[in-house]
Amino acid sequence: MIIKRDFYINGAWVAPANARDYQVINPTTEEPCAIISLGDKADTDAAVAAAKAAFPAWAATPPKERARIVARILEQYEARVQEFAEAISVEMGAPIDFALSDQATCLPWHTSNFLKAFEEIEWIRPLGPQAPTSAVAMEPIGVVGLITPWNWPVNQIALKAIPAMLAGCTCVLKPSEEAPLDAMMFAEFCHDAGVPAGVFNLVNGDGVGVGSQLTTHADVAMISFTGSTRAGIAISKASAETLKRVVLELGGKGANLVFADADDKAIERSVRRMMENSGQSCNAPSRMLVERSIYEQAVEKAVAVAESIKVGPAHEHGDHIGPVVNKSQWEKIQGYIQKGIDEGARLACGGLGLPETFNRGFYVKPTIFADVKPGMTIEKEEIFGPVMAMIPFDNEEDAVRIANDTPYGLTNYVQTGDQARANRLALKLKSGMVEMNGKSRGAGSFFGGVKQSGRAREGGVWGIDEFLESKGISGYD
Ligand code: NAD
Repeated sequence: MIIKRDFYINGAWVAPANARDYQVINPTTEEPCAIISLGDKADTDAAVAAAKAAFPAWAATPPKERARIVARILEQYEARVQEFAEAISVEMGAPIDFALSDQATCLPWHTSNFLKAFEEIEWIRPLGPQAPTSAVAMEPIGVVGLITPWNWPVNQIALKAIPAMLAGCTCVLKPSEEAPLDAMMFAEFCHDAGVPAGVFNLVNGDGVGVGSQLTTHADVAMISFTGSTRAGIAISKASAETLKRVVLELGGKGANLVFADADDKAIERSVRRMMENSGQSCNAPSRMLVERSIYEQAVEKAVAVAESIKVGPAHEHGDHIGPVVNKSQWEKIQGYIQKGIDEGARLACGGLGLPETFNRGFYVKPTIFADVKPGMTIEKEEIFGPVMAMIPFDNEEDAVRIANDTPYGLTNYVQTGDQARANRLALKLKSGMVEMNGKSRGAGSFFGGVKQSGRAREGGVWGIDEFLESKGISGYD
């Protein structure tokens, strides 16, 4: 059992003001794997005060020097990557090989991308002939509160803490109470990399405690949040009192448009992408819209792929998917499967209950519903589990209408052999990102949604810009 009650504040691990224990449950064994503390207002205030005190010096540190210090976090990661992956695996259930190859590697991937993008930031830009004495200076916004979820825990910390520090902001991270262990290791990496005291702080806690204390704190200039749409709305309201900048990465209900001319691997690729991380990805292609002429054949193929996906313990090696994060998530997913059945969708594979041979662990069978009708609950709501809905469509217009008829707008997908059609659809789909034919976004690009999927752009220069203010100066020479 890991016991880590302290918080990282002002460059040191300090005991909570009022110890309030929280047990982190290993979703594979259903046993506690760690005890942490949930912070209260005194802890949040101390962390914000440390960040506020550290801000002037960090903001004044030359950008190149900030980049040099932040880059050293990678050396710490490399020295402890196995331990880092084990922390992710035990707390949120990602199988260890996947935690090592995909989850943990988000840190070096995003850090090195941000370090490249950082070189493109023009800290002071004269506006040229049309405004000869005007310039725009880019300045860090101040103390930022970073609130992250449990599903890709390192990914989300890297997408926020790295650009915040590069930009010259100081931060207080409140990771998900379900996945605090990798976050605490990230604090250790910062410490050992020589990030100055107060620049990065961490306080564990829940949403109603530390989360809402950060969102209402007068000395916090900005909240960068990733999580559910429900919490994003609450955070927007709470932050309005102090008019903070609020950057939101929220839920999704991605549509994946599969046309008859899609390549042979399109169905397999899409189902695997859906089931990856046990379906707990905001950008999961959870609605597969298939051109009617290949619909039955596509259902058959999708079922064969889903049935070939193994489910197993997070600590075992292999390419299986693990349990979902906790009991309430498991129950919520079961509720959605029941709804799908009740509302008349065709259960093509998977379904209710634990997979055969398991009697504990929060495992969900990879599940596919066919003949899902637009408007059914499993078509509308984010399930956040390995459950995919298949829907036939008749033509492009029909497909776009179904795809866009959702409050969400994070990632949509297109599978077609016709590049002109793919390009056309990319502009018609209402989402922050469109991914075509399995080509994932490149290193310099961003992640982010529209509508109720939020309004953040994380990654590339956009991800650093989120933490900067532009100041217009006239009379500059
Ligand atoms: P959640 O909203 O329950 O919690 C996320 C974080 O917010 C946690 O740290 C939690 O403690 C905190 N929180 C909750 N309520 C709060 C409040 N009122 N004030 C301040 N903080 C609060 O989400 P979750 O269950 O941890 O994660 C799953 C959700 O996250 C899904 O909806 C998923 O789609 C979304 N997500 C989105 C992205 C994206 O980039 N768009 C990425 C990953 C996850």
